[in-house]
Amino acid sequence: MNILVTNDDGIYAKGIRALVEALSGLGKVFVVAPDSQKSACGHGITIHDPVMVREASFEGAEKAWSVSGTPADCVKLGSSMLIPDKIDILFSGINQGGNMGTDILYSGTVSGAIEGILLGIPSVAVSLDSHTGDDFEASQKISRTVCKKMMTKELERETLLNINVPYVSKDRIKGVQITKLGIREYTESFQERKDPRGRVYYWYSGTPKNVFSEEDTDVMAVEKEYISITPIHFDLTNYRIINDVKDWGIRYE
Ligand code: MN
Repeated sequence: MNILVTNDDGIYAKGIRALVEALSGLGKVFVVAPDSQKSACGHGITIHDPVMVREASFEGAEKAWSVSGTPADCVKLGSSMLIPDKIDILFSGINQGGNMGTDILYSGTVSGAIEGILLGIPSVAVSLDSHTGDDFEASQKISRTVCKKMMTKELERETLLNINVPYVSKDRIKGVQITKLGIREYTESFQERKDPRGRVYYWYSGTPKNVFSEEDTDVMAVEKEYISITPIHFDLTNYRIINDVKDWGIRYE
């Protein structure tokens, strides 16, 4: 089995090392990851600049490349140019920081997996709900379990699994909940600073705030120390109100 691994924290992040270590016993692992931190780059791709690719040494991987682009660039390049064999499964992560609710719209980690499903590759995104913690043991364990499960189960096309792991010791985790996306809001704040020439610049410094989320959501599951697994697809259509909008009678006249 050929496993493609990517992330958005960059090829030198501890999380991607932990992920490769977790999966390397299950198949041939190929790593194609950004050469620098690309968190919150969403589903961007690089079209106005050249994309540089460098072969990298990576313990546990069959082959590895660092790419001067986004996770979506990495997945596109990996599957079409770098890896000659057919990729059976894609894992993106292990991200430092949860990717729940509306986070997934900004997340490079989840976008790596979305690019995977766009290319017809069964895909999984894994995030640890801590920006500073680097104990990936529980995340490694669930990644291995899900990878094995995906070898035997057929996941509906155009659907990825988004895994979020609470940051508690691996024995305190209560189990797994299959969830829907919850609500994640941030206190929107920017720090206003000045550069050495006196010009003002801004640095985003939003932090998540507690808002109401239903019981069966990713946010609540992780809050209650469960591993959350959400099936995600990229169809953003709001089917519930298609007929309402038709009733508006919008005409081009
Ligand atoms: Mn990240």
